[in-house]
Amino acid sequence: MPWAALKLPPVAQTLPSLDVRALYDRFDAPLTGIDCGAMCAPHNPSGKPFCCDICLAVPAAYRQEWAYLRRATGLWRPYRGDECPADPTDPAELRASTPRHMRLLACLGPESCQRPFRAISCRQFPFFPYVTSGYRFIGLAYDWEFEPVCWVISHLAEVTPAYREEFIGLYDGLFALWQEDFECYALRSEEMRAHFAAEKRRIPLLHRNGQAYLLSPRSERLHRVDLSRLPRHGFYA
Ligand code: SF4
Ligand code: SF4
Repeated sequence: MPWAALKLPPVAQTLPSLDVRALYDRFDAPLTGIDCGAMCAPHNPSGKPFCCDICLAVPAAYRQEWAYLRRATGLWRPYRGDECPADPTDPAELRASTPRHMRLLACLGPESCQRPFRAISCRQFPFFPYVTSGYRFIGLAYDWEFEPVCWVISHLAEVTPAYREEFIGLYDGLFALWQEDFECYALRSEEMRAHFAAEKRRIPLLHRNGQAYLLSPRSERLHRVDLSRLPRHGFYA
């Protein structure tokens, strides 16, 4: 999804082999108990769920996923850059800022989505694996750029325990294989700490221990929180 602000680590020489079908099958639990797309799409002028609108979020997949998806389904094709003429994003800049182990793609759109062939980036949205400054993957944080529009971010208590568990399991497995991917998320987490520190806010975190916390971006201290009491954002405030 949005990678533009990442500082890129060195390119890996080889990509680890991944059983993409098995990864998809093990990361398939519903994000929430309801169809969250039905909650956010009415707020998008295009009528699409925000995370499925390529004018707002260009999907990215691991290169191994693309190798699998291009054979298994017609749902995806490479991103061309002309999908959204009104979007001021420069496709060349977006490509240059995409981690090199990932590939930008375009899908047929939400009307033609094939759930079994959703990319990991679709399944993980709006979350990414949060990595502390001490290089520990401790839970799920969200893509803060989507705070005003994503219904889930304003309703974190609705995220299912099964989803959280599968998310953690997926990234534990990937990070054990793949340092480059871990480094990308460590940088993303660092960026989030800087953003929240500048705004004097704490980071909501769905911890791998099953609890939820607010994390202080400077000290990284954790304070237990009741998710249903967190503020809502944007359309959902
Ligand atoms: S994850 Fe967020 S943006 Fe995507 S469909 Fe659900 S509520 Fe909408
Ligand atoms: S594949 Fe489906 S879930 Fe993923 S971006 Fe396309 S429509 Fe959305």
